[in-house]
Amino acid sequence: MDPEREQRDALQEAVAVALAVLLVEVADGLAALVVRAGRRGTVTPTGRDAILSWLGDTIARLFGASPAAAAAAYATLGTVPQLLAASTRAAVLVAAPDGGVPGVAEPVRTWRDPNGLILSDRIWLAGEDARSRLTAVLDAGLARGARPDELARELRGFIRPDTAGRTVRGDQAFSSSRRLASHEINRVHGVTTIARARGAGDLVAWEKAARHAEHDVCDQNARGGPYAPERVPSFPGHVSCACHLRRVPDNGTPEPGGVDGPGLIAALTGL
Ligand SMILES: [Zn+2]
Repeated sequence: MDPEREQRDALQEAVAVALAVLLVEVADGLAALVVRAGRRGTVTPTGRDAILSWLGDTIARLFGASPAAAAAAYATLGTVPQLLAASTRAAVLVAAPDGGVPGVAEPVRTWRDPNGLILSDRIWLAGEDARSRLTAVLDAGLARGARPDELARELRGFIRPDTAGRTVRGDQAFSSSRRLASHEINRVHGVTTIARARGAGDLVAWEKAARHAEHDVCDQNARGGPYAPERVPSFPGHVSCACHLRRVPDNGTPEPGGVDGPGLIAALTGL
């Protein structure tokens, strides 16, 4: 595998771990609250309200209470917007270690997806998605009369990732956050690669990810390359696309990358 692709994949993995570190407090706090609210054997409606109020406040602090608040949190350490901002800056540097890609950093935040949403909208929505999933698990547990300690364990298992071996699993509550982070890194890496190719007069190859399903739009995109920079198909090809864009210089040999993605993310986020 080419080293630049390895760096991008390592960056994605490092960001998934950093995200898990941020979100562990939700798992621990929620479980403790459920146990405390249910210390007389059941969680009362008042207890439920208190749990949901804490959850809302915590998600708002981590993701932003609104899209505008998410945008305002790009500079606040310990928030998801800050992690995403740092991740995308790192993705630019992985694709362009020597810098010199003017204009790539800012469109990261102002680029609109096919639904018309910018990055802060998508971050806020990922937080709301987690909040509603967790609320549904809590309410389903209360409705079937689950014991508070069982319910606390269930909620914890729904959130808390297993970071053993640096493989993050079991974080269904925050799966859309992980997907968003991974997609943004991939997209920004691709955008930067295209911008660099344009500046250098190079072509861009679309390398299909091995783990993709047998047939999807990416087959066609990979076969159609290498492309002139202005002809590269919309990238990434779809949600969870793990394909890679590679600059193909005139001599046909990709340039080696020189940036340690995980080291970069640690430096940028303080994690
Ligand atoms: Zn793909």
